[in-house]
Formats: sequence, C-alpha cells, structure tokens
Amino acid sequence: MEKVLLLALKETRVNAQLYDQNLYEFRSRNRLWNTPHLGLLTVGAILAEKFVVEYIDLNYESIAHYEYDYVFISPTTSQAEQAYAQAAAFRKHGVKVALGGPHVTMLPEEASVFGDFIFVGESENTLRQFLEGDRKKIYEEGIHPDMSLVKQPLYELCRKYLYSSIPIQLSRGCPHQCEFCLSSAVYGQIIRRKSLSQAYQELSIVKQYFEKKLIFFTDDNFFLDISYSLEIMSMLKRLNLTWYAFTDISIYRKKELLDKLYESGCRKLLIGFESLRPNNLREVNHSGFKSARVPEYEEAVREIQSKKIGVVGSFVLGLPYDNEDTFDELYQFIYDTCIFGTNVTVSTPFPGTKLFEKINRTQPLKREWSQYDGFTLLYDIPGIDRDLFQERYLQFINRINSEERLKRVVEYFKNR
Ligand code: SF4
Repeated sequence: MEKVLLLALKETRVNAQLYDQNLYEFRSRNRLWNTPHLGLLTVGAILAEKFVVEYIDLNYESIAHYEYDYVFISPTTSQAEQAYAQAAAFRKHGVKVALGGPHVTMLPEEASVFGDFIFVGESENTLRQFLEGDRKKIYEEGIHPDMSLVKQPLYELCRKYLYSSIPIQLSRGCPHQCEFCLSSAVYGQIIRRKSLSQAYQELSIVKQYFEKKLIFFTDDNFFLDISYSLEIMSMLKRLNLTWYAFTDISIYRKKELLDKLYESGCRKLLIGFESLRPNNLREVNHSGFKSARVPEYEEAVREIQSKKIGVVGSFVLGLPYDNEDTFDELYQFIYDTCIFGTNVTVSTPFPGTKLFEKINRTQPLKREWSQYDGFTLLYDIPGIDRDLFQERYLQFINRINSEERLKRVVEYFKNR
C-alpha cells in the first residue's frame, strides 16, 4: 500500500522582538492555539481509504526519513515559504507533493511551481478524484461541498503530541464577509453544518481520546442557529467536556443559550469586536452588522462574564481610521470591562481577501509571506506612521498584560 505523510508545519514564530518582549501574551497565545492541524486530519480521513497515512507535526518532531509516496502540506500564508522549502526537500527524495489549504487556494499558480498536485478550495470531492487515480496538476473544487461529505478527522493520528486544545469543526461559512477575512473567502457566505449525529460521533471520539483537553470549535460563529447550538450544548454537557468557541456579541441577548453555557462546559468565548470605531467597522464589514453593535460592547461583556464565561476579545489594529489615540481607547475599554483575555492582532491583507485587492491597488504589497504573521503592519494608514505604530503596538501589548491588569481580572472573576 502506498504511504502518505500529512505534514503540519512549524508555527511562524511571531516577530522575535515582539515574542521576547511579550512573553506572557505570546506564550499564552501559543498555548491557546497549540492544536493539531484539523485540515490535514480531515483530508487524512479520506486518504486513509486507500493509503497508509502518517501525521508529523514539525513543532514536535523532525522528519526522520523520506520513505513516503506522497506528502500533503497545507500552509497558512505566513507558512508558505516554509511549505515550499519542505516541498523541495521531499521532491528531491522522489516524494510527490500535494499542496492545499487557504493560501494555496488563493494563489494556485504560485503553489504549482512547488507542488505536483494543487488542491484549490475545499477538497472533499477533488480528493475522491485523486483516490480514484485521476491524476492532474490542479484540482479545482467549484462548489462548497455538503458537510455530510466531510469525514470525521483522523484524531487518532495526533494523540502522540501534547496539544493543549483539540479543534472540532461543525460548520463552514459566515454570512458577514468582512473584507480582511480569509476564512469566509474560502468557505463562502452560506453556512453549512454537520448533522447532529455526525457531531455526536465526533464529540464522542474526542471525548474518548482527549478526555481532559479543552475543546475548541473552529466554526466562524458557533451560535448562529439557536436550536442547533442548544442540541450541541446538551451533548457537550452529557459528555462532560470543557470547550470554547468563536461568536459575535449578539450572544448576550440570546438568554436561552447564555444561561446554559457554563453548565454545558463552556469556559471562554472568543468574540470578534475588531474595533471600537464604527467608521473602521463600516470599512471592513459593509453590511453594517458590526458597526451597529459598538454601543452594546460593554453591556455584552458584562452580561456574558456575569455567567462565569470569560470573554476573549478579538481586536484588529491598523484599520483605516486608527491613529495614536486608538491604543489608549482600546486599553481603557479592556481595563474597564475586565475582559478575561485579548487577541489583538494587526490588520493583515491576506492574498485572496478583498482587503488585499484594495490595498494592493494603491500600495503594491510585498510577497514576503512570513511577514503576514498578524503582528506586522504591512501598509501605510493615514493616521499614524508605520514605525510608530509598531512601537505603540508593542507598548500596548505590554500594558494589557501588565500584572496590575491581570490581577484586576482575577479579582473580578473571583467575585462572579
Ligand atoms: S464575522 Fe468573523 S468569520 Fe465572519 S466574515 Fe467577519 S471576521 Fe470572518
């Protein structure tokens, strides 16, 4: 039987200076996102029908040999150069290289220089063609496949590594289509969900393999369908799992969900606030969904945290109307609300997004992909000079992770 290696690349280490000076922020961030590569494990489930499949995560071990027939690699944008270097090494040893994932989907011509097989888009159907022996250079999926075709990831392959959380994807797609968002560009606007029985089987396997681990739902928004979410939450409660998920602030008004979150094992919600400035939000989210909710931000955090659920606020700096004052405004919001955690990144124009097209028209963007790490401002904005922005960003990260603020958060939660 032919052998396939699923190769998870090294995390792109956040810009060394930021990492070294912000150990708390970046180490805790690395812990939070220390998860197996869900895309590869999902692809692996299909490939296992015909091949012997192995999984190596370069964050944990190196490649000991090249005795494989195929290697599958799925880089993020900041891992693209690393992926191409690995591809060259495998090809040198006669291994055929398949490349896929969001970056490759957006730039298939670039990837085709380095890979033997290029998978564009979601690959549930095109992988079947590959399995059936229909070999071609570029496999292009023209549709968003039904989630019933998405097989349960081969979780057993990653049990050998000490990941801190385990990802599960129950749905794909997001109606909001923010212009910086790569996920919605790949998965589309229409939400597709796994059936409840698929979900139950997946949760049960994860429970069996990773009983004590935190479950992380990768869905762009976990709570868009209230009755579906309630069903999943009752499964999570029965299985006694602890979990966190992404959502938007409207959850604070969905009382029937909110009241059951803690008992279902939810401990954190990652909420995409993005910015406190409505004009920024109107720029990145044209439907106005996000800008209309800014006045509710404080109340939403208070309400959700009153249920013992930590809010991890996701914010993006470097949006068009940001300037030097933005940092103080955001710090004050974070301080006043005692928000449990933060995920503050820098606006990054990933190729394939509307943001990339927009910026690239007036400021041609460099294709140095390792710089697309989410912590580096790659283009000019009117309100603040780029070097000053990076300096203020660093100070800001230190400030939100100061001992004083963290103590304040601990006190706040003690009293819940
Ligand atoms: S709401 Fe979130 S997932 Fe949806 S498009 Fe915007 S950033 Fe992407």
